[in-house]
Amino acid sequence: MELLNYSEIWVGELTDELLNERQDICKCELCRLDIQAMALNQLKPNYVVSEHGRIYTKTKMLGQQNRADIVAQVTKAIEQVSRRPHHLP
Ligand SMILES: [Zn+2]
Repeated sequence: MELLNYSEIWVGELTDELLNERQDICKCELCRLDIQAMALNQLKPNYVVSEHGRIYTKTKMLGQQNRADIVAQVTKAIEQVSRRPHHLP
């Protein structure tokens, strides 16, 4: 059994989605993870219990409001990370 933070999954998906629309910024693994860490620190966690990918707690659906919050935080994080990427000297 393990704990799974659903916010991480949502942030991961939306980061991919939002980065796909951008051609002007770095999408390396470090920048991607930086963006996700920054966004996740601003969002509430959504823990569920899972075992081998099977989720025991009732799966939370990503509601319209949640999605809007996550999009806002990921967008903000993309702006900050792309302005000061950690991979640069
Ligand atoms: Zn990068």
